[in-house]
Amino acid sequence: MTATKNQYAMQDPLKQYPGPDFDRQPQSAPGLAKEMRPRPDHGEESYQGFGRLKGRRALITGADSGIGRAVAIAYAREGADIVMNYLPSEEADAREVRRLVSDAGVKVTAIAGDISEEAFCRELVQKTVGELGGIDILVNVAGKQTSVDSIADLSTEQFEATFRTNVFAMFWLCKAALPHMPAGAAIINTTSIQSYQPSASLLDYAPTKAAITAFTHALAKQVAPKGVRVNAVAPGPIWTPLQPSGGQPQEKIEGFGSEVPLKRPGQPAELAPVYVLLASQESSYVTGEVYGVTGGNPIS
Ligand code: NAD
Ligand code: MG
Repeated sequence: MTATKNQYAMQDPLKQYPGPDFDRQPQSAPGLAKEMRPRPDHGEESYQGFGRLKGRRALITGADSGIGRAVAIAYAREGADIVMNYLPSEEADAREVRRLVSDAGVKVTAIAGDISEEAFCRELVQKTVGELGGIDILVNVAGKQTSVDSIADLSTEQFEATFRTNVFAMFWLCKAALPHMPAGAAIINTTSIQSYQPSASLLDYAPTKAAITAFTHALAKQVAPKGVRVNAVAPGPIWTPLQPSGGQPQEKIEGFGSEVPLKRPGQPAELAPVYVLLASQESSYVTGEVYGVTGGNPIS
């Protein structure tokens, strides 16, 4: 079953997409969208573009699955050329995205590689500039989340890997990309409700998200004089491979999303319009902002 819906027809948001109970469905990290039941809705059948990003050049990390895939589909249908990054083990998901993006009639280049390495981040930006001629939109979506119940079992290796993937990579990519970004360009980072309401078992992940939030506020002030805007999106529980591949224990997958006022997880397709807004000139006076898409839990 796929959770596909017409995302423009007026309807009850409580019933728009599946809610608990879900089946347990363990995968090893980073997981694949194609293995999830129900299949997440990334807007494949529904997202309609209106030319809001026509001719823009976008680099999107984590673009094979989940929120990043929904962003890639939406940006392509809004007219942007795209470089998509993901891990080599996610080639099967990435292939589907490459097809969907090229069906939209824009240019797409897929570059697999590990952003927890600084040299690769610099190479990714260089290759993007080589392919597209510059960067108008940098979307940092890739992230690592591994639930561990006790600090006694949280290794230094995991703590460091989570920070390298979620925080250091964002820093390296922003640093490398900014010299190639003209006035009017936008950076969009992906923080989380965890930045504001951290879970006990996400002792490494939640602080990375708080760092992303603060980095977004600070960088927005720093690059405002260049005419580059920097914002972040703070998702609540979203139905993506991040969660069943170790982001949550399997017993929490069964009730995933039940804790929010809308009583279900969000689908990646429900995030894409916010990433489009923050990339487009329509949000010209919005910078240093965090936009929550949480199903009703406040980001404060
Ligand atoms: P996802 O698993 O579909 O996407 C995460 C992606 O990160 C993977 O597809 C992978 O390509 C990429 N990635 C991980 N480690 C990498 C590395 N070392 N090098 C390169 N790429 C790497 O899951 P998602 O939920 O769409 O996650 C996207 C973002 O949303 C993450 O930053 C996550 O923290 C954030 N987020 C997710 C939720 C949620 O409930 N799903 C909630 C809040 C925030
Ligand atoms: Mg993936």
